[in-house]
Amino acid sequence: MVKSPLKTPMIEPSSQSNHQGPNNLDGMVIRAQSGFLTVTTDEGEYTCRLRGRLKQGDQEGDIVAVGDRVTITPHEDGSGEIEAIHERSAEFSRVRTGIKREFRQILLANPDQIVIVFACADPEPSLRMLDRFLVIAEKQKIDALIVANKLDLVTPQQAQAAFGLYTELGYPVIYTSAHTGQGVDHLQEHLKGKLSALAGPSGVGKSSLLNAIQPELGLHVREVSVSTSKGRHTTRVRQLFPLEFGGYVADTPGIRSLALWDTEPEELDAYFIEMRDLVSSCQFSDCTHTHEPGCAVQAAVEAGEIHLERYHSYLRLRFGDESEDLIEDGGVD
Ligand code: GDP
Ligand code: ZN
Repeated sequence: MVKSPLKTPMIEPSSQSNHQGPNNLDGMVIRAQSGFLTVTTDEGEYTCRLRGRLKQGDQEGDIVAVGDRVTITPHEDGSGEIEAIHERSAEFSRVRTGIKREFRQILLANPDQIVIVFACADPEPSLRMLDRFLVIAEKQKIDALIVANKLDLVTPQQAQAAFGLYTELGYPVIYTSAHTGQGVDHLQEHLKGKLSALAGPSGVGKSSLLNAIQPELGLHVREVSVSTSKGRHTTRVRQLFPLEFGGYVADTPGIRSLALWDTEPEELDAYFIEMRDLVSSCQFSDCTHTHEPGCAVQAAVEAGEIHLERYHSYLRLRFGDESEDLIEDGGVD
C-alpha cells in the first residue's frame, strides 16, 4: 500500500478499520484497573483486556486510558478484547519521570473540559494556583471552566473581586454554593453531555458539589480517589462517573505533580491568553518581559490592561520555584 501523506477523511484510522468485524462494538473506557478495562457500549458494559499486538512497540505514554473510544470484541460472559483505540481529540496528561525515561500518564483521554474548583473563602482562593491550572489547560488545549464555590461565605462583590478578572479574560466562571444550592443548576448545564476532569485544592467543596448535583456522586468519587492515592505501589484505579443527565466526570487525584514539567520558560507567553498576542510587539524577540526597553507586556501592565496579579503569576511561574508554591498553597488533592 502506498502511504499518502494526507489524511483522507473518507477512511477510518487504519488501526480501526483493519479489525472492525461484524461482531465488534464501539464504546468508551470508563474504568481502568490492573490491566482490566471496563468499556461501556450500547449493549452494556464489558470487562476487557488489550489485544497483545496493541501493547507492542516502545511506548512513551499510556496506550489506553479512561475516556478512550475503542472497538471491542464482546463475549457473552461480559468479557471482551480491545481491538483498536481510536485517535484522541485531546489528552489530559502529566509526565512522570522514571529511572530510565519520562512517561506520559494519561489522566483522561478526549476531555471536553477541565473544571477547576476553588472556594471564594475557607480556604482563601489561591489565584496563583488557579493561574497554574489555566496554563496547564492552555498547554494541553483543553477548555477550562472555573467554579467559585462557597459563595454563601462572601458577598457577591467579594466573589467578583476575586474571580471577575477571569471572566474578563474570557474564561467561563460559575459561582456556586453546595450548601445553599445556588448556581448548582448552572454547573449542571455546563457538565451535561460532556467529559469533564475535576480539579482543585482539597477542601474547596468538590465532593459537596458533586453530591448536590447527584445524590452520593461525591461519595463514590471520593472512595475511588482514596483507594487510588493510598499507596504509590498499589493498584491505580481510574474511573469515570456517569451523570444521570448525560456526561461523565473524572476526578484527577494526584494533580499535585501536574506541575509545569516540560514547559520551556518562553513557552509560557502563549499560555497567558492576555499576553499571547502582545509578545510579538516586544522590541526584543527574546524579551523576558521584566526589564527590557520596548516591552509590550510591561507597557500593558502599566496601562492596567494586564492585571497585576496575573503578571505576578507569570513571573512566578517563569522564574520562581514551583515547589515552594505548592508548599505555600498547602498542597492539592
Ligand atoms: P473537597 O475536598 O474539595 O471534596 O471538599 P468537600 O466537599 O469535602 O468540602 C470541604 C468542606 O467545605 C466541608 O466541610 C463542606 O461541608 C464545606 N463546603 C463545601 N461546599 C460548601 C459551600 O458551598 N459553602 C460552605 N459554607 N461550605 C461548603
Ligand atoms: Zn516583553
